[in-house]
Amino acid sequence: MLHTLRQIVQGVNQSEALDDALQFLVTQTKQALETQCCSVYLANVEAGHFTLMATDGLAQSSVGNAVIGFHEGLIGLVGEREEPINLANAHQHPRFKFIPQVEEEQLNAFLGTPIIHQGRVLGVLTIQQADARQFSEQEESLLVTLSAQLAGVLAAAKARGQLTAASSHQRSMVVLQGVAGSPGIAVAQAWVERVAVELEDVVEGQHQDLDAELERWQNAVLQTREYIERLSLRLGESLDRDVLAIFDVYQNILNDNSISGAVEQHIRANASAETALVRVAKDYIGQFAAMKDAYLRERATDIRDLAQRLLYFLQQRAHELTEHEQPLVLVAEEVTASMLASIPRDKLLGIVSVRGSSNSHAAILARALGIPAVLGIADLPLKKCAGRDVILDGYSGRLYLSPSAAVKEEYARLLRQESELQIEFEKNRELPAATADGRRLSVMINAGLAADTEHYGGGADGVGLFRTEIPFMIQDKFPSEEFQFQTYCNILNRFPGQPVTMRTLDVGGDKALPYFPIREENPFLGWRGLRMTLDHPEIFLVQMRAMLKAHHKCRNLRIMFPMVTNIAELEQAKKLLRKAHAELQDELGEHFALPPLGIMIEVPAMLYQLRAVADQVDFVSVGSNDLTQYLLAVDRNNARVANLYDELNPAVLNALNSIAQQCRQYQLNFSICGELASDPLGAILLVAMGYKVLSMNAANIGRVKWALAKVSMSQCQHMLQKALNLSSADTIRRQLYVDMDSFGLGALIRPGQ
Ligand code: PEP
Ligand code: MG
Repeated sequence: MLHTLRQIVQGVNQSEALDDALQFLVTQTKQALETQCCSVYLANVEAGHFTLMATDGLAQSSVGNAVIGFHEGLIGLVGEREEPINLANAHQHPRFKFIPQVEEEQLNAFLGTPIIHQGRVLGVLTIQQADARQFSEQEESLLVTLSAQLAGVLAAAKARGQLTAASSHQRSMVVLQGVAGSPGIAVAQAWVERVAVELEDVVEGQHQDLDAELERWQNAVLQTREYIERLSLRLGESLDRDVLAIFDVYQNILNDNSISGAVEQHIRANASAETALVRVAKDYIGQFAAMKDAYLRERATDIRDLAQRLLYFLQQRAHELTEHEQPLVLVAEEVTASMLASIPRDKLLGIVSVRGSSNSHAAILARALGIPAVLGIADLPLKKCAGRDVILDGYSGRLYLSPSAAVKEEYARLLRQESELQIEFEKNRELPAATADGRRLSVMINAGLAADTEHYGGGADGVGLFRTEIPFMIQDKFPSEEFQFQTYCNILNRFPGQPVTMRTLDVGGDKALPYFPIREENPFLGWRGLRMTLDHPEIFLVQMRAMLKAHHKCRNLRIMFPMVTNIAELEQAKKLLRKAHAELQDELGEHFALPPLGIMIEVPAMLYQLRAVADQVDFVSVGSNDLTQYLLAVDRNNARVANLYDELNPAVLNALNSIAQQCRQYQLNFSICGELASDPLGAILLVAMGYKVLSMNAANIGRVKWALAKVSMSQCQHMLQKALNLSSADTIRRQLYVDMDSFGLGALIRPGQ
């Protein structure tokens, strides 16, 4: 039965049009549960009713016409109660509503389950039968399981369906909700960066240059051959010989001239390599799929799989060669640093990522670059987005596909307002950071990407966090001491006479090195940051030597350890630092002082060890991104729980306040380098708590300085006191907005936020 369930879910997932998906669902479910009727109703929130969308058993003429209010009938009851209702005789139930057009007079028993996606009732799935007996417990649990599995898939099918309709006839606007990742608004066409390409996605095309196209094809064959060889070698240790034989089959197909020859023939007839491949592959797939012999029929799957790999290599090259001439909004399943790097900054207006959340590293990159971003739109149908006009609202986390004229106009107005404000912010950038009553503060930048210091327009008092993992990520092996030394010198030289705080390698969690994969069930609770580098002193020592050498030359470095959980780790790390220092002094034949040393406060355990920390280090810097994730037990990268990740949660605010109080008590220098400091609202609260050093994204310096210059210290404290007395992030935010508005900061609050 599990297999059947999976097949139904897969079938729904593969259907392009929503109607097909739903019809497939009801027919297959009816068959699998051996019942007389299966129907699905979907909620129409604006209209306040459910509509019968597909049925196998009720009158077909009522599909799309039969509607039932959210508080009417048994369907409404299932939606209200958000739980299954199982009745032997539905007609006798007080909530039964007779709708003549559906023709269900003969059907007595009724079982309905809600389809709930992200806490909202998306629809109701029902089965019915003539026998006046309750459906069995097993039938009930199957329908519940099916509904639960279907929820996400149906939500995606619904969005796909809306888009198909939008492209075919009325071109209506589709609005999708994600998580606000980076503030700002972008209006442009969507550019979909797809890693996996499907045969069905290829648009027929022709080439301009026969030799170049043949070479492109032959290269793709070569790369695919190498890829399969590597895969077979890698899997060789863990797979049975007969499973591995599939790779031999692939190699044989590639070596066999009949497919390759046929593709070349099409290319010679002017087809693009992709078109030629798809034509030939489809032809073979059709032939194999029609064969009687089961073994031969299976070969159709092999050909499809292989053709998809070939297509991937063909398109990868095409992508590398793409020159973006028009401004675009980048859309991808998962936005990576290399994707961002491949698009010229002046063409990249916005970022949309299916995965990720407000504090995933993709979001941080986007903010560092000052590019609006929306993440975690799980239902985004990638295939349907390419080339579409989109509006991305990085304040509310909304994405509008094919926006209506009215929405376009409203956003054009907001964009104008925003660029006027931006001019205001820029004026503040170079001014010293201070509150309205002249309390001086220090504003630093978070860096790590070459690009974010490149776009850095000045105005900072130094670097509060340099994420060294980025130079490690863009390499194909651990970078040498010399490479690291040069990288670190470059950044130290860009901020002469100003402190630059470099964090030692913090890989693990959602930051993986391509050449050092770490596979864990719970990566954020696993081998991350200092935990990993302490286990690999050979990597750690090289990095510290490179840092110390750079400090010896430039004299403005501060070193910081990430993910410290206990004092023993800190002592061990310090021992290694002293070792690297001693070695270097020997080599240079010269004594030089160690740079100031600090740790990040991002694991909640450190809140209770600050007295001991004060004896060990010169400073601490709060990593509010991870502190929030660990304090609230919410994966910062998981779109499903993104609504729970909130730095304004009272627990987080109290923790930040307690850190400030303790540090003052133990005379420990403290600052903050989490994303909260980049948000004017967050900055106001932090200043009220006593944080005098705020490290933020370079793009936000002007905005934060502008906001701070408008409020006095006592106004900041007033806001903080009110916030600390409230019990939820939502009420805190609402209260803060009211206060901001009264202090003349209303322009920072966007409609819909
Ligand atoms: C943090 O956790 O707040 C932080 C600044 O580090 P990262 O975002 O790189 O984990
Ligand atoms: Mg962190």
